[in-house]
Amino acid sequence: MTAPARHERTERVRELALAEGFDAVGVARLAPAASGAALRRWLARGDQAGMAWLGRRVERRLDPRESLPGARSALVVAWRYAPVAEGGEAGPLGDLWRGVARYARGADYHDFLLERLQRAGQRIAEELPEMDFRAYVDTGPLLERELAVRSGLGAIGKNTNLLSPTLGSWLLLGVLLLTLDLEPDPPIGDLCGECARCLEACPTGALPEPFRLDANRCISYWTIEHRGPIPAELRVGIGEWAFGCDVCQEVCPWNGRPAPLAGREELRPPVAGRALDLVALLELPDQELRRRLTGSPLLRPKPAGLRRNAALVLGNAGRAEALPALVRALGDPSPVVRGQAAWSLGRLGGSQAREALEAAGAVEEDDGVLGEIARALAALD
Ligand code: SF4
Repeated sequence: MTAPARHERTERVRELALAEGFDAVGVARLAPAASGAALRRWLARGDQAGMAWLGRRVERRLDPRESLPGARSALVVAWRYAPVAEGGEAGPLGDLWRGVARYARGADYHDFLLERLQRAGQRIAEELPEMDFRAYVDTGPLLERELAVRSGLGAIGKNTNLLSPTLGSWLLLGVLLLTLDLEPDPPIGDLCGECARCLEACPTGALPEPFRLDANRCISYWTIEHRGPIPAELRVGIGEWAFGCDVCQEVCPWNGRPAPLAGREELRPPVAGRALDLVALLELPDQELRRRLTGSPLLRPKPAGLRRNAALVLGNAGRAEALPALVRALGDPSPVVRGQAAWSLGRLGGSQAREALEAAGAVEEDDGVLGEIARALAALD
């Protein structure tokens, strides 16, 4: 194929992808990942914490050509989810949503972005029936951010997010592997320079050095991926984040530039869950929580994980009106929630908290929860 024909084909493919509503589309030529050594170092240090799946199928992760026979190019798409224009998210929201990472306040992006990407692939295949494609939105062993860098969409920031000079870092990424030979976009250089705001701002020290995220200290990991108790030494640092964390993006100067988004229905929380506040959430049984949050990514840590997070935030927020709900949470079916409620009552303090902890300690049978109760009572002394 001649260069002009390849250029024309590339632009047509880009146009078809942009028609699906993505904010940016870049093209990368497929080759083994340049960040292979860094990934292996990251895994060897154990920075992936309990996310064991990140250490599986590493070879395939490092060479996207393994994922689709004959794949030659990647179309990397970015979809912006913040900042949202005033009132654009959902009108009056319960206080739960203010502690939810912005990407998770609406519908589950895995679903709606994958659908768009599949549709883009099908449209391309209708025009170029000889080609094959495979779409990924965090749905397989692929280094999306590395491909995004190679496609010229942006550069990796010191907080390990993709930074775009025009769109900032509030971006969700998807990848369409194609058997087409397309013209790659040129990568751009480093965007951080001397800045280190994100490293300084991380409340739990999860960015110990530039470009290194230690999930063992990351609020997003503990509040979303982890199922058991959250380590005591991180609880205060988690502050009022009930699901994920945005601090390293909130402080990034590149995020001050893009104009606010309006009219994106996908960014609105499910109707049944919009008014949820943390106290109500803490008291909702599994089935009702699932009903209220259908279609939302908030169910990833399971209902008990979400109630655990609510109990933690209520302890950190120091709100006296949360005390009755925390007392009742000492009887939650999940020991993880009971243990977290005990910690939070210890943090709130007062005679009512002490009485409730003593009463719970008299009937509790789980050793882990008994330990939490004992430590909470000691903290009250
Ligand atoms: S806050 Fe500064 S160092 Fe961190 S990603 Fe943004 S520009 Fe880079």
